[in-house]
Amino acid sequence: MPLSRWSSRHKKTFGKKKEKWDGNFRLPPKPDSYYTQTKGHCRWCSMIILKEDDTINTRKSWHEDCATEYLLIYHSGEQRAQLWNRDKGKCNHCGREDMKWQADHVKPLVEQKGVKEKDLDWSYYSLDNLQTLCKKCHRKKTNSEVKLKGKKVNYKKWR
Ligand SMILES: [Zn+2]
Ligand SMILES: [Zn+2]
Repeated sequence: MPLSRWSSRHKKTFGKKKEKWDGNFRLPPKPDSYYTQTKGHCRWCSMIILKEDDTINTRKSWHEDCATEYLLIYHSGEQRAQLWNRDKGKCNHCGREDMKWQADHVKPLVEQKGVKEKDLDWSYYSLDNLQTLCKKCHRKKTNSEVKLKGKKVNYKKWR
């Protein structure tokens, strides 16, 4: 179940043609099923949605888990809500609780830059790859990433 409110913006894309992905690695391309209007089929994973009695639920177009996953990627509000729900603002590196905590991708998304659509690594966009960092640790990590550009980074250190 997504934590943030479901926006009508998502409904507006129903039945629209799939747009060509602009290559923005922060917003990966949505699947073909996102743009079709097949009720009873999930817009994210394209599988059928069942009711409790195992018949097809033609009133729905998302699995709850899929909606959660979708919003995590495309909705920064949902991303923060899910992180807060899990970490409660506690820095994953030094353990400090920071009111100004920041969401950080353990494996930086920038590593997906220039990767072709079919070769994208979706694990980069999962909740598992997100962590809470205090402002200080976040700055340190970002700096070390810039310095280490092109070299292999030891992410475990930042877990
Ligand atoms: Zn689904
Ligand atoms: Zn910290």
